[in-house]
Amino acid sequence: MSKTIVNKMGVKIYPSIAFKTPALYRQDDEVKNVPTSTMGFEPYFDFSDEELREIFATLEEDSAEITDFTGKMAIRYNLEGVKNRIMHDDPTPNPKCVALNDHLRLLPDGAVPVCYFDSRTVGNLRSTPFRKLWFDSQETREMRNAVKHCNGCWIACETVPNSVYTGNILGFLWKLVIFPTKSVR
Ligand code: SF4
Repeated sequence: MSKTIVNKMGVKIYPSIAFKTPALYRQDDEVKNVPTSTMGFEPYFDFSDEELREIFATLEEDSAEITDFTGKMAIRYNLEGVKNRIMHDDPTPNPKCVALNDHLRLLPDGAVPVCYFDSRTVGNLRSTPFRKLWFDSQETREMRNAVKHCNGCWIACETVPNSVYTGNILGFLWKLVIFPTKSVR
């Protein structure tokens, strides 16, 4: 209902499934909540299989309406990973993580956290020049090492950059070309 109203106003809504263990948008201190296994994906609510099927059908329908090709592929790639994990116990795709390597997150106060699930910061760009924080900092080196050994997670704002920078999304696109209607199980 609300979606129909805002769509008429030219505003698009893309629903998503919330995690139980985010770290970045919490108001308490810095926390490390990275997944302890490759299956580290816990939705905020407990859904029945029937509810999940309905949710995914809606999300897939919504993704078909996206006109921007890059945006659509990113949403569908993310959706496939969510569905594989919570409906098929299958932790794929699972691209190598590039957080704090190929991109950084920047909080409004200038702090640079590790990633969505690890809000520990490696410094603050208001007090430390980027070059020093990115290239010369021991904290950054240590956190990059932690990222390197992480099990992997599944949240669009991390997995989409991971899929693009590692080239993992190319396999997904190739699958879409071969099986256009079966990309999301
Ligand atoms: S895979 Fe990367 S983004 Fe995800 S929890 Fe691990 S370090 Fe963070």
